[in-house]
Amino acid sequence: MAQAQKITPRAKDFSEWYGDVIAHAQLADYSPVRGCMVIRPHGYRIWELMQRALDDMIRATGHKNAYFPLFIPMSFLAKEAEHVEGFAKEVALVTHTRLRATGKPGADAIAVDPTSALDEPLVVRPTSETIIYAMFAKWIQSYRDLPLLLNQWANVVRWERRTRLFLRTTEFLWQEGHTAHADEAGAEREARTILDLYRRFAEDWMAMPVITGVKTDSERFAGALRTYAIEALMQDNKALQAGTSHNLGQNFAKAFTVQYQTAAGGLDYVWNTSWGVSTRLIGGLIMLHSDDNGLIAPPRLAPVQVAIVPIWKSDEEQGQVSGIGHQVKADLEKAGMRVELDVRDNLKPGAKYYEWEALGVPVRLEIGPRDVAAGQVMLARRTGGKAPASLAEVTTAVATALEEIQSGLLAAARARREQNSIRGVDKQTFLERTQGAGGFLYGGFCGQASCEAQIKEQTGATIRVIPDPEFRSPQAPTTCMWCGMAAVAEAVWAQAY
Ligand SMILES: [Zn+2]
Repeated sequence: MAQAQKITPRAKDFSEWYGDVIAHAQLADYSPVRGCMVIRPHGYRIWELMQRALDDMIRATGHKNAYFPLFIPMSFLAKEAEHVEGFAKEVALVTHTRLRATGKPGADAIAVDPTSALDEPLVVRPTSETIIYAMFAKWIQSYRDLPLLLNQWANVVRWERRTRLFLRTTEFLWQEGHTAHADEAGAEREARTILDLYRRFAEDWMAMPVITGVKTDSERFAGALRTYAIEALMQDNKALQAGTSHNLGQNFAKAFTVQYQTAAGGLDYVWNTSWGVSTRLIGGLIMLHSDDNGLIAPPRLAPVQVAIVPIWKSDEEQGQVSGIGHQVKADLEKAGMRVELDVRDNLKPGAKYYEWEALGVPVRLEIGPRDVAAGQVMLARRTGGKAPASLAEVTTAVATALEEIQSGLLAAARARREQNSIRGVDKQTFLERTQGAGGFLYGGFCGQASCEAQIKEQTGATIRVIPDPEFRSPQAPTTCMWCGMAAVAEAVWAQAY
């Protein structure tokens, strides 16, 4: 890895730091197509591990995977009024199907063949509600067909003008769940079940503490009745919407005539939900845990959990420490760990440590001749601290370290979030915080969209969620922290990615 440049410290420039961490950990790169991202093997492996864990959870709650086409007839988007408005400004459109040779030189050698124009242009999916519910209309006849619980793993395209790797790219990878239910209660229960699933995934796998709640009307998904979200606070005190779950009501069912015969013999529209998380989560993982030495990957999602670095001076020592290294690697792999043994002889140990740190590997084992003689290895944690571990019990020591790092990252992120959350915020403090330190700002909200819009315009802060009961302040606010009118709810504001 040729990395002459150092990582910009977080305190100096968070955004540059973020880019440097991605470059040094070889997670992703900008593509020749503006706005698009190339996910490199180390980054893609994190996505695969996320996918595997999430997919198991999605299946365990009764959902099945399917796959729907990338192309959606343009007219489909027009069927749900709010939906088309929400996505119209960021769609990629396929209008032709052929190029032709022009006989001219250079870049002009090919041109669009005008005779290949499509009768109806196709939208490259920005999300799949329309095409999936068009199919649901075919598949759902009776109450016996409900609930229908599907998920798909796919790529989507939303034409973005600003790009930030993982956080905002024109094409990204995600899963989108789509379900149909007989009644509102079924859809609501589903939307909530998934919100809870996302929360468990964020906390248990990503070590990312989240607050859950419902979005205000101005922040909800285009075409939804209600949007629920998980929101996390990054190290720069900006919020990241990490996943959403929508109760779509009967809006799409009416637009696509998804009807079913009720048990009583009548005809009714189904209730839908949709929900998704994306490669944006990788951006969240980076911004939540990493430090000025590079990526810190939570052990459960780390592509490499343990890096073994033998240290030698003579050939004889090299043979000995490498031999032990191979043996330890085999033992750890037998216990299900993802392990790399670094026996490169063209790099000094210090340079190797630096690389494995930048890659976010949670545990490093150093094996020198003196360690071998003492029947031990040195166990260094990416989150800090180094101690000897007995060779005879190295598997247990590493397993314990990985578990402690995983839970330690969650605890540290939660403590940091609470330190940077202000409850009962007033307008003055709100203005100060949004111009300075940021954080989650809890305060009363009048429920007026105009008040919300004014706050956004003047401070850049938005209501992340109306929090669920367990996240609310002990004392419910009585007035809007901004306009002073009676509060209808407590809201959590923050500037967000
Ligand atoms: Zn207000």
